[in-house]
Amino acid sequence: MTKKTGTTKKSPATPVLSAFTHASYVYTGEMIRKKDGRKLEPADVSAVEDGAIVFDQKKIHWIGPARELPKIYKSVKATDLKRKQAIMPGLIDSHTHLVFAGSRAQEFARRCAGATYQEIADEGGGILTTVNATREASEAELFELALKRALIAYRYGIRTIECKSGYGLDHDAEMKCLKVVKHLREALPQMTFVSTYLGAHAFPKDRRRTEYIDEMVRKTIPEVAEKSLAEFCDVFIDEGYYSIEEGERVLRAAKKAGIKTKVHADELANTESAHLAAKLGANSADHLLKISDYGVESLAESSTVATLLPGTALYLKENFAPARDLLDKGAKVAIATDFNPGTCYSLNLPLMMNLSALYMKMNSAEIFAGVTYSAACALGLEATKGTLDVGMDSDFVVLPYDCFEEMYYRLGW
Ligand SMILES: [Zn+2]
Repeated sequence: MTKKTGTTKKSPATPVLSAFTHASYVYTGEMIRKKDGRKLEPADVSAVEDGAIVFDQKKIHWIGPARELPKIYKSVKATDLKRKQAIMPGLIDSHTHLVFAGSRAQEFARRCAGATYQEIADEGGGILTTVNATREASEAELFELALKRALIAYRYGIRTIECKSGYGLDHDAEMKCLKVVKHLREALPQMTFVSTYLGAHAFPKDRRRTEYIDEMVRKTIPEVAEKSLAEFCDVFIDEGYYSIEEGERVLRAAKKAGIKTKVHADELANTESAHLAAKLGANSADHLLKISDYGVESLAESSTVATLLPGTALYLKENFAPARDLLDKGAKVAIATDFNPGTCYSLNLPLMMNLSALYMKMNSAEIFAGVTYSAACALGLEATKGTLDVGMDSDFVVLPYDCFEEMYYRLGW
C-alpha cells in the first residue's frame, strides 16, 4: 500500500443533506410494513401530519413532525411545502411489458368494431404483430421507445418499474430486449428498473413447442443468469399457453440458475397456477381473474404477492380479480399497470388505483400498499423501498396534492 501524502486525498465526503419541511403529510407506511401488507386499515398508511424528512442522495436520515426536527438538521437546506403537498414512497409499477416495437392501434379499433381476437390472430395479427416488429427492431430503436415510456411512468410518480421481455420469443431477440433494460438503468439513474425474462410469454410460430422450451431451459436461462440480465423469470401459464408442467419446468430451471420467479396466473382460465406460484415460493402471482378458492388460500398462506392488474380487466371487458376475497383471507395484494401493446396500453398507475377503489372495493391503505410496500415485496425490494424509514432509500415523491387519496380521486389525470 502507498502512504497517503499531503492534501491530495480527502476522507470520504460527508453526504450533502437536504430536507422537506411542513409537508401536509409524510406517509411512511410504517404500519403497513409491520403488518407485512396484510389485513390493513386506513390508518396503517402512518401519516405524519405537518411532517419533515431529511435525506441525502441515497438514504433517509430523519422523518417526523416538523416541530420535532432535531437541532443538528436546522441548518440543512430545506424546502417548505407549506402544508400544501404530501410526501409518500415512490410508486412502484411491479408488472409491465415495457420493451416492444410496433403499434396495434388499428387492431384495437377493429376489435372495438366487432372483430374477435381470434379473427385478428388468424390473420397473423395480435401478439404476432408485436413479435415481428420487436424482432425487426434494433436494440437502439427498442431503447428509444422504452426510454420514452419510462419517462411517462416517471411523471405518474413511478420510481421503480419492472420490465419484462417476452416479445422476442427466440434466444437472440429476448436477450436484445433484456439488454435494453440494462441500458435504461444507465440512462435514468433516477429510476429503478427491475428486469424480468418472460421468454415463456407465448410460443413462437416458427418452432416446435418442446424445442423452444428446451432452448429456454438449457440455453437462455443459464445465459441470462450468467450475464445478470434479469432478476426474475416469469411464465404465462394459462389455457392455450404454457401448461402447469411446462411452466413448472421453466420456473425450476430459473430457480436453479439463481433467478427469482413470477407467474402470469389464472388470467384466461383457472389452471391452479396461483397455487403453483405459492408452492414454488414465487415473489408474485399476477392477474388472477379466474383464481379458485384453493388458489386464494394458497396465496393467503404464503409470502407470494397477488398482483392485480385492473386496467387489463377493463380493457378486455372481463370481471375484475377477487381482490376483497384475497385481502380478507390475508393475502398481500399489489396493483400494477400491466402496460403492454395488446391488453392494457396504459402507464397510468394512479388510474389503476382508481379502478381498485371503484371496482375491487379496496380501502385506501390497501391501495397505498398496492403501489408501494406490496409492490416492493413482489420485486424483492421491501427492505429498501416501498415505505419510508431512517436508513431506507430516499425514494419518495412530493405530490402536487395535500393528500395521497387525491391521486386516485382524479380519474385518469
Ligand atoms: Zn403481463
